[in-house]
Amino acid sequence: MGRTPFIAGNWKMFKTIPEAVSFVRALKSSLTGLSGVEVAVCPPFTALAPVAEILRGSGIAVGAQDVFWEERGAYTGEVSPLMLKDAGCSCVIIGHSERRQFFGESDEKVNRKVKAALACGLTPIMCVGETLVQRENGITEKVVGEQTEAGLSGLSPEQAAGVVIAYEPVWAIGTGKTASDEDAQQVIAFIRRLVNDLYGFGTAERIRIQYGGSVKPGNAAGLLARPDIDGALVGGASLEIESFVGIIRAAAPGI
Ligand code: PEP
Repeated sequence: MGRTPFIAGNWKMFKTIPEAVSFVRALKSSLTGLSGVEVAVCPPFTALAPVAEILRGSGIAVGAQDVFWEERGAYTGEVSPLMLKDAGCSCVIIGHSERRQFFGESDEKVNRKVKAALACGLTPIMCVGETLVQRENGITEKVVGEQTEAGLSGLSPEQAAGVVIAYEPVWAIGTGKTASDEDAQQVIAFIRRLVNDLYGFGTAERIRIQYGGSVKPGNAAGLLARPDIDGALVGGASLEIESFVGIIRAAAPGI
């Protein structure tokens, strides 16, 4: 059975509630008859509930950009997996490089968040990726391998199969530099082999691995045609209807 491609838009810290609402209204009407591809938008926390309300029943999923691992308690400023479910989310980005870089997100924290999301029925989109210096030093596989293994640590093969991994080379995020189709395929195939070694063939065949880093309508088809690339995590190009829909169409040309 083939893996359904998954295109997720990471809006980062952009869009007010009215902007988010008018965007998803337009997205919904652009994507009527959506099939053969899964789509999610990941707005800021403030817009999650109104966006989910509009998208209910549309087949377009809603995700958050971060989550805390506890269900409730005295954790000022944090949002729990239960609260994300309550707001209408079905997925959540975890360990984005911006969180690793600016907010001290360690592999151990990523792992706790992945486990908490799964326990609550949310699909984690777990981000991994090397910096430019790490790539130039030839340690891309070492870095990405360690992040993947640590992030998935303690999961059953069945749980691991339900995680979406987003391979996002840090040097390609928001820079306009995309990894070549071949470079992205190579690293993603490496991640799949690692999942095979850790959790077995069935999990490796089922787990979806996205590419992220300056994906645009013009480069999406080439990336998505590669055998191990199961979709895209899109930042900048997910903020405009035309470019986001262009990428989604590249994943499912019938739409
Ligand atoms: C991202 O933030 O996950 C991302 C891939 O950003 P961009 O598409 O803008 O490079």
